[in-house]
Amino acid sequence: MFADIPVDVGVIYEGERIRWQDAQLEFGGPRVEHKFELVRVRKLDEVEDGKITIIGPDIKDLEKKSYPLGIYIEVAGRELDEEIEGVIERRIHEYVNYIEGVMHLNQRYDIWIRISKRSFEKGLNSLIYIGKVLQRLFKSELPIIEKIQITFITDPEKVKEKFKEAMETYERRDARARGLKDEEVDAFYGCTLCQSFAPTHVCVITPQRYSNCGAISWFDGRAAARVDPKGPIFRIDKGECIDPLKGEYAGVNQIVMSKSGGEIQRVWLYSAFGYPHTSCGCFEAVAFYIPEVDGFGIVHRGFTENTPIGLSFSTIADSTAGGRQVDGFHGISIEYMRSPKFLQADGGWERVVWVPSVILERVKEFIPKDLVNKVATEKDAKTVEELKQFLIARGHPVVKRWEARAAEEAAKAAIEEAKPTPPAIAASTPTAELTVPVSVGTGGFRLVLKNVKIHAKKVKIIRVKEK
Ligand code: SF4
Repeated sequence: MFADIPVDVGVIYEGERIRWQDAQLEFGGPRVEHKFELVRVRKLDEVEDGKITIIGPDIKDLEKKSYPLGIYIEVAGRELDEEIEGVIERRIHEYVNYIEGVMHLNQRYDIWIRISKRSFEKGLNSLIYIGKVLQRLFKSELPIIEKIQITFITDPEKVKEKFKEAMETYERRDARARGLKDEEVDAFYGCTLCQSFAPTHVCVITPQRYSNCGAISWFDGRAAARVDPKGPIFRIDKGECIDPLKGEYAGVNQIVMSKSGGEIQRVWLYSAFGYPHTSCGCFEAVAFYIPEVDGFGIVHRGFTENTPIGLSFSTIADSTAGGRQVDGFHGISIEYMRSPKFLQADGGWERVVWVPSVILERVKEFIPKDLVNKVATEKDAKTVEELKQFLIARGHPVVKRWEARAAEEAAKAAIEEAKPTPPAIAASTPTAELTVPVSVGTGGFRLVLKNVKIHAKKVKIIRVKEK
């Protein structure tokens, strides 16, 4: 595509996965504390168009390891304003993924970029090439950008310094959308940027339900649809509100059905059950249902330990991602946890039982005051049993749900006991059809049992190891 870039560039490379054994090196990712990408809008005379700077070692100077990285992009244009920064920034993900042998995951302070050995051997040995591709694609796809300069920072101390500015800028953007209610607007916005990784995924961005990646607010969606009406971010007319508690809207259902190729027919914006919002793979965190305590745990991408259910973020994320609606597994942004609509239909914060301490700290001023000390963290509970004990000791509201459920079950048992014993079922009587959903990794399958009688003392499901 570009004669002076040593590898190919095109949409066909989007979605390309690079495994560690095939990588030359990586920037960011879970092993690196400081990494970010940030776009700032400047005045026309403050940007030197085409300038690319590298502060710290370049790709060719580095061995196979994980390194800090800051991608700092400054843009200028007569029609540009601060409101569009988040939208331009999210396009970095898309454009970097167009480069053959380069994988870009996530966003903002969570980026993860791998360069493949093959592309390195073809000559992709400098961040300058990535900068050139970004500059050209940005200017051709978004002509309102008149000037663009890019700084790549790999010096660990310098990345750390700029990281602070990045975090403050993200917080300012997020705070702008707080206060506006879903009921007060006529339109929501949709995004299909992640369909290269999850073809049936459609993000629905409302004032009170931030995008899963945490990088696009309702204001960003509005600005993006204005400057690039044919782009991946589009307006959704809300239409009739079918259920205000669950957050079901006729206009949302209609557009999600069309953009997901008919795969997703209904969406409940404020629930993790029934018809939850789909989850791509870019979510900042996952809310996962823990049946033993009838509550939700939440784990974010940066959490490296196991959750109380014995699974890590990546295993839980695998069961959630892929553009599917998985009952009880729900990809979310951290900002959505600050929203009054957060899991509203499922009980909101009254149903959340476990959150990593660093996330609890970030959102605690948005949690009802009487609940903050009732939500466990990794410091309080490492197993489901420890979690149960913690919730009982702190009087978490889910404990009342257990009591109500136990009372209901006891009442049902009493009714059953009072019923006369039914005649024995003849041996030839067929059973009803039984469907057993089985979840395996990101795929899963379904066992359909028809006209069967099963007598089993024990059922064992054993994972078969790949040879
Ligand atoms: S997570 Fe959603 S909003 Fe963010 S880039 Fe992907 S599709 Fe768009």
